[in-house]
Amino acid sequence: MPTYDPNNIFAKILRGELPCYKVYEDDKVFAFLDIMPRAPGHTLVLPKAPARNLLDIAPGDLAAVAAAAQKVAKAAMTAFNSDGITVQQFNEGAGGQVVFHLHVHVIPRKAGVPMKPPASEKEKPEILAEQAKALAAALQSG
Ligand code: AMP
Repeated sequence: MPTYDPNNIFAKILRGELPCYKVYEDDKVFAFLDIMPRAPGHTLVLPKAPARNLLDIAPGDLAAVAAAAQKVAKAAMTAFNSDGITVQQFNEGAGGQVVFHLHVHVIPRKAGVPMKPPASEKEKPEILAEQAKALAAALQSG
């Protein structure tokens, strides 16, 4: 199994070396918007601890990520008036993983609206900023 690379892009975001549209943080978890969303409000939920993917994450960190993903999903139902939520998580290149710090995709869905293909279009910064604000507010009030 390949080992964790501390210079992956999400590790840099976690260290504050690169910007992100933050929506949630607790002692073990950090969540921010995907800049190439497959649907509006597409959020990535990460452990703060270094973990490449499902195959090496400590069970306690995985449980914290799952609990935070549930919080984000519930808040997204309100913030984006969603009809449902798609949750995805990819492991290793063969499993569809591109960035090698574990992340769970929480994707708000509207009935009858297909998801865009992965990484197909970069969302406008002002839209991402607005969506992050709405989701963070729903998380705080929920
Ligand atoms: P995957 O590793 O296949 O689960 O996908 C990585 C995801 O990260 C894709 O959905 C990208 O759109 C997203 N992504 C890549 N770079 C950034 C970034 N700087 N900020 C937020 N999302 C990103």
